[in-house]
Amino acid sequence: MSNVYNWQLGRPMDYPYDAAFPREQFAFVFNLNRCIGCQSCTMACKSTWTFSKGQEYMWWNNVETKPYGGYPAHWDVKTLDLLEKANPGGQSWGGTPQNAKAPYGQFKGQTVFEAAKHNVSPEGAQKALGYLPTDEEWAGANRFEDHPTGAPKGERDRYFQRPESLPQHKTWFFYLARLCNHCSYPACLAACPRSAIYKRPEDGIVLIDQERCRGYRKCMEACPYKKSLYRGTTRTSEKCVACYPRVEGRDPDGGGLPMQTRCMSACIGHIRLQGLVELNADGTWKENRQHPLYYLVHVAKVALPLYPQFGTEPNGYYIPPRWVPLPYLRQMFGPGVDAAIERYSVPDRELLAVLQLFGKDRRICFRYEIKQGPKVFETNIRGKKFEMFNDTVIGYGRDGKEIARIAVEEPVHVRPAQHANSI
Ligand code: SF4
Ligand code: SF4
Ligand code: SF4
Repeated sequence: MSNVYNWQLGRPMDYPYDAAFPREQFAFVFNLNRCIGCQSCTMACKSTWTFSKGQEYMWWNNVETKPYGGYPAHWDVKTLDLLEKANPGGQSWGGTPQNAKAPYGQFKGQTVFEAAKHNVSPEGAQKALGYLPTDEEWAGANRFEDHPTGAPKGERDRYFQRPESLPQHKTWFFYLARLCNHCSYPACLAACPRSAIYKRPEDGIVLIDQERCRGYRKCMEACPYKKSLYRGTTRTSEKCVACYPRVEGRDPDGGGLPMQTRCMSACIGHIRLQGLVELNADGTWKENRQHPLYYLVHVAKVALPLYPQFGTEPNGYYIPPRWVPLPYLRQMFGPGVDAAIERYSVPDRELLAVLQLFGKDRRICFRYEIKQGPKVFETNIRGKKFEMFNDTVIGYGRDGKEIARIAVEEPVHVRPAQHANSI
């Protein structure tokens, strides 16, 4: 085992290989407050990459309804249970949030790599603690769709301790859109006995070499997000390829510029913003104040990694849904949740402008600028003053040229009289 630095955990950790970081890293931010569960992203991926024989059950991108849904069923609960079994009562966070090397404090528990030595997996000794889902768990990608939950009887007050800006809901659910996180310390790569999985030095995209893969499914067992899948017709494993031709700028529609992937571009809810971020020699993000992803993750701190405690340093970040009980969100996104919800619920001028960039252009945004406009609205939210300015955010592509220009205040479109009631 090597000792590598995991900034999401705020500490070094064990990993089977030495750290090696790409020049730029594929990353994305999803705003879960906006996802409508329409599955356009899922179908965009399916119709591009997994429409062939043997791929019927493959959903490289999936959207599940939390808390009950999951694909494969209960993937997260099962991994959390294994970690708890390996380190009973010890899976907690401590310390105080610091700079970009420890923005969420310090994880005191054990990652899937560190817990592997306890040998509590049903599959026996492993490089990363995990399990192989059953065929039944892979059946039905969208079970429990729209199934809500309520707080246990008598415990509602514990769940809703904070003043709500929305009416208090007795029941809740939310849509969690997922794909491979192209992790900085991929568990799939660590577990492959054939060294068939590699992380590209140019953009950090994690791929499976189909020539080398022998279908041992160790990647499927080790990936805590269960985003590597086995194909019976080829006897190899396959996973999200991050639509690499688009990221490389080879899609004719992009005019040579890096483009967002199919699932990002197709998102009806405009919940997705994809980017390429530069890294320092220790794997932390290079300071880049005007990069929209750097701003959302490290400045505004509204976007958080999914289950950072697994230890793979996932490169998918989520703005948590503000109507969901905080204890549930904390176990899913770590201790940064409280501050993220507070900030998102009463967004400042810059955050409100940057949020407009989501889903506005298919090319990847590398920098933004804000042109200030007049104040258009003022109110109080959760006891705090909220002011809205009609600023304009301008996004720039890889070549430094403008790709998007959006005003905070949406224009009003009035249906012409001849089309009134014409639906
Ligand atoms: S999400 Fe899973 S499959 Fe994707 S890079 Fe991370 S460990 Fe590998
Ligand atoms: S990035 Fe591309 S390959 Fe990966 S889930 Fe999205 S559409 Fe599918
Ligand atoms: S396309 Fe967007 S809004 Fe629709 S389910 Fe996917 S992530 Fe959610």
